[in-house]
Amino acid sequence: MPLTAYDLTGRSAFITGAAGGIGRACAVLLAAAGATAHCADLDEKGLLETRDLITEAGGAAHIHVIDVTDRSRVGAAVAAAGDLDILAAAAAGIMHTSSVLETSDEDLDRVLAVNFKGVLYACQEVARSMIARGGPGSLITMASGAVDSAGPGLLCYSAAKAAVVQLTKTLATELGPHAIRVNAVAPGWIRTPMTARHEADRQHRVEATMARLSPLGRVGEPEDVAHTVLHLASDASAFMTGQILRPNGGVAMPW
Ligand code: NAD
Repeated sequence: MPLTAYDLTGRSAFITGAAGGIGRACAVLLAAAGATAHCADLDEKGLLETRDLITEAGGAAHIHVIDVTDRSRVGAAVAAAGDLDILAAAAAGIMHTSSVLETSDEDLDRVLAVNFKGVLYACQEVARSMIARGGPGSLITMASGAVDSAGPGLLCYSAAKAAVVQLTKTLATELGPHAIRVNAVAPGWIRTPMTARHEADRQHRVEATMARLSPLGRVGEPEDVAHTVLHLASDASAFMTGQILRPNGGVAMPW
């Protein structure tokens, strides 16, 4: 029996990036807490796996195969989902691109499109639907520890994430009067397909370094982030808006 404040029974959540990694963990946990999970992603196979995980555990899930950079597809999926109480915007693109001096328009546009505009479109569409229904609601964006520090090759990623933080804070001021809360999660190093790709692209073991830097001696798992998202989605965080929560094992991202 869940604690009342964390019980999402009767609520509906739209989760982008739900085919894998952090987005999947969020969809599974929000559904376990009682929400109907509307799982959105480019990757249909991954979405079907997420749906199976949820339904096999007794939860309710629907899938929406969309590219979050396509505003009209995001709008259509949100409309198809019906009344929504929660957004968790976790779809991600590429972390590492190139040095600042070598950054091309293509690099910048590609990363901003998924990691910033994709979050913006989802927030806009879900917020409009929440306002039309008279609220309340909770929007959760996915920033990163990269907003707290800098590192070679991460300009596009960290700039997009910094923009997500400002989007979150600005939206919190605009949507508060509609009883819609807006918060960001800024995870540290979490073991997902995205970090596995990053690790494979580099010459050294970033994961081992991150684990050593944490007072807890480990990197994160997607479920560590999902529990932070559950907190922000639920009434347990009813007086929190415009905040950035950092599930990062105590590591201030050093790169
Ligand atoms: P991931 O690559 O493992 O999963 C991302 C999901 O997004 C995938 O299922 C992918 O298919 C989907 N996706 C990518 N582009 C899309 C698009 N255009 N439209 C729809 N879906 C799309 O990534 P992850 O590590 O789970 O990251 C999730 C979020 O958390 C991202 O915003 C990422 O920046 C953030 N984050 C991750 C870490 C980490 O260490 N893993 C740390 C900080 C922040």
